[in-house]
Amino acid sequence: TTSSRSMSIRENVQVIVRLRPHSNKEQQQLEQPCWITGPEPGMIQQLQTRKGQSSVFQYDSVVSGVDNELVYHTGIGDLVRSTMAGYNGTVFAYGQTASGKTYTMNPGREFMLRVSYLEIYKEKIRDLIGDNDQLIPEIREDKKRGVYVKNLHEEIVTSAQQVLDVIKKGEDNRHISATDYNTYSSRSHTILQIVIESRSKDVYTPEQGSVRVSQLNLIDLAGSEKATSDVERRKEGGYINKSLLSLGNVISQLIQKMHNEKVHVQYRSSTLTRVLQTALSGNARISIVCTINPTWRSKDESLNTLRFAQRAK
Ligand code: ADP
Ligand code: MG
Repeated sequence: TTSSRSMSIRENVQVIVRLRPHSNKEQQQLEQPCWITGPEPGMIQQLQTRKGQSSVFQYDSVVSGVDNELVYHTGIGDLVRSTMAGYNGTVFAYGQTASGKTYTMNPGREFMLRVSYLEIYKEKIRDLIGDNDQLIPEIREDKKRGVYVKNLHEEIVTSAQQVLDVIKKGEDNRHISATDYNTYSSRSHTILQIVIESRSKDVYTPEQGSVRVSQLNLIDLAGSEKATSDVERRKEGGYINKSLLSLGNVISQLIQKMHNEKVHVQYRSSTLTRVLQTALSGNARISIVCTINPTWRSKDESLNTLRFAQRAK
């Protein structure tokens, strides 16, 4: 039935909007709040404009405040658990720079797994934890593994601390001077990929001993804001927008497909979507956390993010 179909779509793609609190600086500068959560769960509305209208947006959930655990339990925990059961899961943090993407993506769970950490900058892949410069990461495809990145270093981890160490190593490897760090980090996508292999221990099932492989991808996207100057725009050559645009297209094509519509999913339209092809196709789960700034100053960028989030539903 339609309702059960839309229920499974609801489970497979979760869209969460996260409104961060004012920073100290924003408080000192008396930046006015622009958004309020509610009136119903999953809703967020713009505080009344001078003209008196207010727009209400609705998602699977809307979360405000500092609590990452809350975000995890709201729309990510189920996805992570399903990766343990053999599904692929992908979590995106989408939003303008300084809206809270990286804050949201710091993982702190326990795993017994293989981890890789890569960055996409100007459509090129860089291994953030490999030590061998001769190994150039390349996208490959074969029947068994699907689409994967060849020459990517994988680290076996057995604790949350080890995952955090991998992330730390990756951040250090970005070779970026402090002054450039903000611009650069808001211009690149990072993908923390965790490959989970499990084997059934039940000797009475025919499945016994067969290995199940699934992956969990935690993705800190480039800032979604429009390039602020012509110089910047020329330098980036539209790369970021290209990836975010094609991600938006791929997600809505996947949703059309879940509705049993015949549609071609354009994974090849950017490095980001190509790298994620295996993770996103099949019975994959996706959570998108769309982060927004609380202030009026950021209203237009927040509206763009909320519209992106609506398109993903
Ligand atoms: P982005 O990755 O989107 O550019 P960050 O995650 O770096 O943004 O967040 C910008 C700043 O705001 C950081 O100092 C971060 O600690 C803080 N911050 C972001 N979201 C929250 C939140 N929900 N609660 C408290 N502080 C936050
Ligand atoms: Mg960031």
